[in-house]
Amino acid sequence: MTDAGPLLRRELVVATGNPGKCAEMEQILQGCGIRIMTMAHFSDQPFEPEETGSTYMANAEIKALAACRITDRVCVADDAGLEIDALDGAPGVYSRRFLGEETPFPAKMARILEMLRDVPDERRGCRFRAAVAIATPDGRLIGCHGVCEGRIAHEQRGAFGFGYDPIFFVPELGKHMAELRPEVKHGISHRGQALACARRALADLFGSVAPAP
Ligand code: IMP
Repeated sequence: MTDAGPLLRRELVVATGNPGKCAEMEQILQGCGIRIMTMAHFSDQPFEPEETGSTYMANAEIKALAACRITDRVCVADDAGLEIDALDGAPGVYSRRFLGEETPFPAKMARILEMLRDVPDERRGCRFRAAVAIATPDGRLIGCHGVCEGRIAHEQRGAFGFGYDPIFFVPELGKHMAELRPEVKHGISHRGQALACARRALADLFGSVAPAP
């Protein structure tokens, strides 16, 4: 608990323009006893600050700080990506921009499956990595990380989640990430881990955040 807690408005802005990610972050942070808001509460313009950082954390900080300037509230932002060992860690921080932002994810995944066509299972290792940044109007910046190990599957499967979930095979569960219900995904995912850490940081900031459900 910090002495600055009572000075902060008990509101938290989820700083992302991505509806799939916004929904996930809201689900993970719900029940924390503070009002969760999105950028849509503050502007009808899309929230798309340029992600010029070379690390996930740098990009998360860019988004959290930009949102904090706009809203004058505590803001939380994340940045994440898929790292594929057989592609030397690509697409990594460029996951969203891989093959161009306008290319639909099924096409991006089809290309990855094609690039890995002859790669055996033992060399199909990959991981989702996430960084979460919390920025406060009084100038504090807090960071959290999460990682989820997996394997690139041989086909796209499942309809839950977003992005690369249909080709991300989770060995412990024997399922593709996109086959997991949201609450199951949050329990193991990179973003779930980073946001669990963020909940603890928010508990410090606001003084009383309920434990994760
Ligand atoms: P950003 O954090 O919005 O820049 O996201 C980077 C990209 O990484 C997303 O557009 C997705 O392609 C990918 N990504 C990040 N997290 C996930 C996830 O949980 N599932 C699937 N793809 C993800």
